[in-house]
Amino acid sequence: MKNLAFYIDGSWCDPLTSTQKLPVINPATQATFAQVCLASTDDAQAAINAAANAFEDWSQTSLQHRIVMVEAFLSAYQARYEDMAKAITQEMGAPASMSYDMQAEAGVGHTEAHLQYAKAVLLEQPIGDYGQLLKEPIGVCVLITPWNWPINQIICKVIPALLAGCTMVLKPSELTPMSAQLFAECIHQAGIPAGVFNLIHGTGADIGSYLTSHPLVDMVSFTGSTRAGVEIAKSAAVTVKRVSQELGGKSANIIFADADLSAQVQLGVQACMLNSGQSCDAPTRMLVEASVYNQVAKIALATVEAIALGDPQQQGDHLGPVISQDHWQKVQVLIQTGINEGATLLAGGVGKPEGYEQGYYVKPTLFGDVNNAMAIAQEEVFGPVLVLIPFSSEAQAVSIANDSPYGLGAYVSTQEMAKAHRVARKLRAGTVHINMADLEYCMPFGGYKQSGNGREYAGFGLHEFQEIKAIAGYR
Ligand code: NAD
Repeated sequence: MKNLAFYIDGSWCDPLTSTQKLPVINPATQATFAQVCLASTDDAQAAINAAANAFEDWSQTSLQHRIVMVEAFLSAYQARYEDMAKAITQEMGAPASMSYDMQAEAGVGHTEAHLQYAKAVLLEQPIGDYGQLLKEPIGVCVLITPWNWPINQIICKVIPALLAGCTMVLKPSELTPMSAQLFAECIHQAGIPAGVFNLIHGTGADIGSYLTSHPLVDMVSFTGSTRAGVEIAKSAAVTVKRVSQELGGKSANIIFADADLSAQVQLGVQACMLNSGQSCDAPTRMLVEASVYNQVAKIALATVEAIALGDPQQQGDHLGPVISQDHWQKVQVLIQTGINEGATLLAGGVGKPEGYEQGYYVKPTLFGDVNNAMAIAQEEVFGPVLVLIPFSSEAQAVSIANDSPYGLGAYVSTQEMAKAHRVARKLRAGTVHINMADLEYCMPFGGYKQSGNGREYAGFGLHEFQEIKAIAGYR
């Protein structure tokens, strides 16, 4: 069985002191197929030291040089593309086609978008009568990522940090270490200098606060739950680090009566269920204009009933399992809570789907007649669960959409563009999708309220890793 270790100061290394290992479990089969070594604070210290030692040289390289290095990384990544897609399927259960076309592809798309931005950006320019404005790397960064879009999250932190001139320690989710390991191999192959990028594995409980409070660390970039985001912000506050947070969501999808109902409702349901409902910006609350509620409920139900589950190793547009036994249990509790709260269960429900007793499969679930105060409308389920909430006016739709602790994504479907624009401006969310339009790689991604305070993707991501310096009397 493969034992996954750490990449520190340009070499693969075993833990210094800890002998703790965590099984890596395929969520479709429940079989352990690897073990990941868990770092102790000694390993975390070694990784931070390596990044701190590498900072002086790397931060002084030209942007042009860093672009060439990231291009070399991209070539290495593309050469391992199939391995990457397979690793993601095995570690988190995304079906093969989705891993290939979306999960692994996001790595290419985001790297290219960051490169495109970096090639055009000015890192310094004159300001005022005699000054110069510089955008400099912030320093040593700790990057902490989740399991749901594992390589997407890693790339959206490591690539802008590299281009900015930062050095870093990546701690990916302990549940999805395979994609991170492959990623580090690509970094090594690209010839990124020793110490610039370091990888350790471990749990938040064991090394989280050590990493996020360490005095040599200048910035923490975190993607994950709001719970962990709050803990990290508190831990980093003592040394006044910059903390960039990309957290949870409960995104509203407003369906107006004049929308192309058949198309938009189907797309909305599919977007909610994609990745087995494990996307932070999934449109999980479908707000439906009351006059078309019954019609929408019928389309939504037919769409949910048409969703197939299946073996993630197989090609196709079926859904795989959710990530783990613990997560499966959490989703079950929330589905049962919805039933107890009096929502109408239109499809799915608790328990394993028939024929899927093995693996962490969840029945694609649809609730009707949901009130926005219910737990299933307020809490992030992070499973294939959609709720339908009726509304009676544009103002009420906006008010329900914004009545959430989260503010990550929002969706509006209508054929009246003036209404779409008006509503989009009133939604307290970092991204708004009109008629289910996809976000482009050049657009910013991030949340309002408890969905976080950072912005990732292309120039917006690069900016997060920069400090701004003004030099007066420069000219
Ligand atoms: P999680 O918060 O449990 O874990 C995320 C990462 O943080 C893991 O690497 C984990 O080991 C680490 N961690 C946990 N506690 C920590 C602590 N106290 N200190 C330091 N590190 C700690 O989240 P998850 O279950 O892996 O991911 C799912 C969550 O991520 C969902 O809430 C989802 O919405 C969110 N997410 C947000 C975005 C976004 O861009 N806004 C993208 C993807 C996922």
